[in-house]
Amino acid sequence: MSANLLKEAEEEAANLLSDLIRINTTNPPGNETAAAKYLAENLGKEGFDFEFFESAPGRGNVVTRVRGTGEKPSLLLLSHLDVVAANPKEWSADPFSGLVKDGFVWGRGALDMKGMTAIEVMTLKLLKRNNVELKGDVILAATADEERGGKAGAEWLVHNHPEKVRADYVINEGGGLAIPINGKNLFTVSTAEKGIFWFKVKAKGRPGHGSVPGVADNAIMRMNRVVEKLGNHRSKILLVPTVKKFLGEVAKENKTLQQGVSMLLANPEMSDQILDTLAQTDKSMAEELRARLRMTISPTIIHGGVKENIIPSDCEAVFDCRVLPGQSPTQAMDEIRELLKDVGLEKLEFETIQANNPSVSPMNTPLYELIVEVLKEFEPDCSVSPVLLTGGTDSRFFRKLGNVCYGFHPVRADMPYGEMLKTVHGIDERISTENLMFGTSVLYEIVRRFMT
Ligand SMILES: [Zn+2]
Repeated sequence: MSANLLKEAEEEAANLLSDLIRINTTNPPGNETAAAKYLAENLGKEGFDFEFFESAPGRGNVVTRVRGTGEKPSLLLLSHLDVVAANPKEWSADPFSGLVKDGFVWGRGALDMKGMTAIEVMTLKLLKRNNVELKGDVILAATADEERGGKAGAEWLVHNHPEKVRADYVINEGGGLAIPINGKNLFTVSTAEKGIFWFKVKAKGRPGHGSVPGVADNAIMRMNRVVEKLGNHRSKILLVPTVKKFLGEVAKENKTLQQGVSMLLANPEMSDQILDTLAQTDKSMAEELRARLRMTISPTIIHGGVKENIIPSDCEAVFDCRVLPGQSPTQAMDEIRELLKDVGLEKLEFETIQANNPSVSPMNTPLYELIVEVLKEFEPDCSVSPVLLTGGTDSRFFRKLGNVCYGFHPVRADMPYGEMLKTVHGIDERISTENLMFGTSVLYEIVRRFMT
């Protein structure tokens, strides 16, 4: 592409992102329709056809399809339009002003994930402006409601209009942010996600007067044991292929990690000891790795009691459990019941809030290989690794349709890596215009080559 075209695209991407940030799509309530309409209009001006879907009033989704000859697989560029809340009092700039200053676009969604929406739209436009003849369909879908589970967005679309969004391959959020290691970048491609299992436990007891504890059966005391057992539980270590590959790549570049990681790979059952040692020097790395080696359970909500002097007969708590590929929420439930046997299962009730199986896409595909190839051209000394997400994205719905999904939003660290991560769902979220251009260039190159 010519330098002029690129310079123009950088400004355009920044303006597009800034406009999207100014449309407040904090979820709840979402109100993504305004953002979807803005995008539709923006695409329409460039001559793209688009379709607009509202899953409920205000919950807009927009889909564009550029037809190819059908000789090659189809590719969906996916993003979500909603964002999480931001408290302006905590920020250095108004989170919904879309301020462009000192080479940065500021605001909620700059990284998660309106920034990627912008580079996906720019990619489509550049394909058109450069008269690229596509051999497969390229689809763009910007959806509602990802931050609250996708029921009014991706899940709804996949369920109600699968023919509009089904594609052989999907590129979405979840990976791509370069981890700097010893002056080199390690780019991640998310190929797998842990499964989500949210459940509620109700502990039962017998009420009584707070002044005579022995006569009652205190439900809070029972729940205390449940929380203690589940919260501290270290489930069996399981080294899944994505994590194995990731550990190998990290160790190749990071000499200080090398010894620990090779020990871990050889003796997975010693992982906790090895990670406890690592935690003394790099706590966040150690805990990020630990969460990828086993099923985890976090207590997240607890309620019990009504009055100062009444021993309660009910106490309930909610737990966020995440299972590895190869495990299921049903298996998790069995393990949990087993653990709580001596707390007294007859005094406990279980209720499932949400249960999603883990999802995985293969790592050995032409698209994955191309991502590696293009990144190496941009940065010859970088490395690329698949990664397992501990959280969930909309990719899980598309993997269910049989699509190969990769989380890949190419971004270089604009500030120290840890700080940049903290701005996502945090304070002062922003992205440099240079990064918008980097993302657009990488994505454009991948899509152009993959589709021709
Ligand atoms: Zn997101």
